[in-house]
Amino acid sequence: MKKLFVVLVSLCIVTTTFGQKTKETILLEKRSEEFRDEIIKISDNVYVASGYDASNITMIEGEDGIILIDAGMIPAITSQIYKDFRRITQKPIKGIIITHGHGDHTNGISPFLGDEGVQIWAAENFGSENNFSKEGGFINPRQHHQSGMKLSPDKRINNGIAPSVYPGGSFKKSQLSSNGHLFIPFDKNKITNFVTKQVETITIAGITLELHRADGETSDHLVVWYPAKGILFPGDLYYKSFPNLYAIRGTAYRDVNKWIESLDMMLTFDAKTMAQGHTRPIVGASNVKTALTNYRDAIAHVFNTTIEGMNKGLTPDELVEYVSLPEHLKNDPNLVQYYGRIEWAVRNIYNGYLGWFDGNPTNLRPLSPKQEAEEMAELLGGVEEIEKIARKALKEKKCQWAAELSDRLLAIDNTNMSYRELKATALEQLALHVETAIARNYYNSVAQDLRKE
Ligand SMILES: [Zn+2]
Repeated sequence: MKKLFVVLVSLCIVTTTFGQKTKETILLEKRSEEFRDEIIKISDNVYVASGYDASNITMIEGEDGIILIDAGMIPAITSQIYKDFRRITQKPIKGIIITHGHGDHTNGISPFLGDEGVQIWAAENFGSENNFSKEGGFINPRQHHQSGMKLSPDKRINNGIAPSVYPGGSFKKSQLSSNGHLFIPFDKNKITNFVTKQVETITIAGITLELHRADGETSDHLVVWYPAKGILFPGDLYYKSFPNLYAIRGTAYRDVNKWIESLDMMLTFDAKTMAQGHTRPIVGASNVKTALTNYRDAIAHVFNTTIEGMNKGLTPDELVEYVSLPEHLKNDPNLVQYYGRIEWAVRNIYNGYLGWFDGNPTNLRPLSPKQEAEEMAELLGGVEEIEKIARKALKEKKCQWAAELSDRLLAIDNTNMSYRELKATALEQLALHVETAIARNYYNSVAQDLRKE
């Protein structure tokens, strides 16, 4: 049973009969239970709004005010969270701590800014990853594909570590922001307090918290430690899934070793409870310890094995076959590849150390995709032969091979609707047989685009 957690895309050749739900679809549908919306009380004065928005928001109730950790993504949703928090306490919001600069933790802040003098805390290098994406619009279509923003709800079960709240279908016009969208990107100028030291201890509304700067998914992280209650808030440096050491939307190199260091730092707290930015909180000291330790060990194992393979001269394509998790980590339900994938992590590590060249001089100046496709056509006796083999592959459920052959056909003529349909069908099949939500989104989004004239 647990074996299916490591099912690879290529397993599409052993699918269930046509029309039945694949086991990966069933697994992802079940996963949606993790995102049921609820205010979860994790201590006498700490409440986590989980499953409402793309990320969790925590409220800590102090003597004469409250502190929030993170601010969600969509004001129409966070205003509901605000109302639900208000049912618990009417005390004013005195502080908001932003764990990192991603929009799913910041763009929903507006409903929380009505009280006077709200302090907003963030790391000094807040938005470090956004600086990269600002370079141009090149990241936008990839972001849309990864998030499945243009897919109909039936094609988008969840996002692996979050419910699919965006773009959503049930928002009224009156709930849109002034720019006509569901949110306005967070304005960094709203931050009132930047953390410049490695650790800063702050007291707001009688609550003392330690803010630890940390690196991993992004380098602008603040890990929040609430010593009086033994609660750890790791932001996105932990969530219940194999971590996204590389985001397929495109990202600058995520330093795997720094992520490991951050996890080691978090383990020193011996937290009783952990409320991460995504997925439901983990309660109980031994559960927190196991979760963090396995997460750390999984990242370290992937890193060490990749380096070991690189030292043997393996190429990225060979490394993805070389690296896998040991049994006990494979069987950890919190390390299922709902969001990140081991093979993407392996390629990321290779790229971080050696760049794009795989060491094979054939690849120093390869044929263009079109030249390669034309040579293949000649070898097989015509372009029609490539198409014939691709269709046969699809019939035999060799979906990856069908997609690769479709690429050759499209390299010759990318306006041919029959080739485009062929690739779209192959991608949709691949989508059905992967448990990684963002891979599914990407396959289905590109399939949808291919069907447009
Ligand atoms: Zn996040």
